Amino acid sequence: MSQARLMDGTALARRTLEDTAKRAADLTERTGEAPCLATVLVGEDPASVTYVRMKRNRCRTAGIESRHVALPAATTTEELVGTLRTLSEDAGVHGILLQHPVGAHIDERAAFEAVAPEKDVDGVTFASFATMSFGLPGFVSCTPGGIMRLLDEYDVDPAGKRAVVVGRSAILGKPVGMLLLARDATVTYCHSRTRDLSAAVREADIVVAAVGRPRLIRGQDVKPGAVVIDAGYNAGNVGDVDFDSAVERASLITPVPGGVGPMTIATLLEQTVDAATRQLGV
Ligand code: NAP
Repeated sequence: MSQARLMDGTALARRTLEDTAKRAADLTERTGEAPCLATVLVGEDPASVTYVRMKRNRCRTAGIESRHVALPAATTTEELVGTLRTLSEDAGVHGILLQHPVGAHIDERAAFEAVAPEKDVDGVTFASFATMSFGLPGFVSCTPGGIMRLLDEYDVDPAGKRAVVVGRSAILGKPVGMLLLARDATVTYCHSRTRDLSAAVREADIVVAAVGRPRLIRGQDVKPGAVVIDAGYNAGNVGDVDFDSAVERASLITPVPGGVGPMTIATLLEQTVDAATRQLGV
């Protein structure tokens, strides 16, 4: 079998960002107000600092304002909730991103729920999970939303296919499974207690790896012709899929980096412009 085609997230994200920038410029011209994303960072974890910087840089190039709130690592749940409520009520802020993970001493769920649903452009609240799962208007979790865009771009229709999602986190595994289900895939979730991961993966027409374990998914378990989406990102630019062996069996595969990652930020910015458009009533 020939090698899989690469799903180029960098190129799709670039096109999505160009479109978002046009919409942001149009909105700014019509309303006199630029879309604004508030980014909230607790502590100074180097990876989180980098992610927030990347998101703010992309905002700048897309004509989206960003307002950054840096809080000390010792911030309490109450203080963080207070900050997020204040931003939720601020008419000059259209979208809110709380960079996670936050420190273990913070109740992350309480913090997420302090984000007003209409500003939840990262798609982390219960309200967003519910609207996404029921296929109602609202915001999707950004990485899952980006994954669905990649599938669409490469004409992968999930309907009737067996999709195996490895990982069940609230921001990635669970929501991507719900989005695949909404598109009529037959979805299986695997996680750390799954007894025979290899057997489950072997059944999959679409595999989504969302674990955080380098090269956990081996090529020998990939069904010939399957679509392989690797959302994992581990030290050394390594995904959760053993790319070199999986590329020999899959029909389509995302590289790491340059696959899912760029689509996450593109989805965040797109949803920020959606939020601003709704809030500014145009
Ligand atoms: P997480 O919250 O740590 O969740 C990991 C999931 O993997 C859990 O559901 C866990 O199961 C499961 N798991 C752990 N070991 C396993 C094993 N041996 N076999 C099967 N399942 C196993 O991680 P996350 O936040 O979802 O992130 C997952 C990966 O995606 C990370 O590499 C992260 O860096 C990456 N990520 C990338 C982006 C992006 O934009 N590209 C965005 C977010 C995350 P249990 O539930 O049973 O513990």
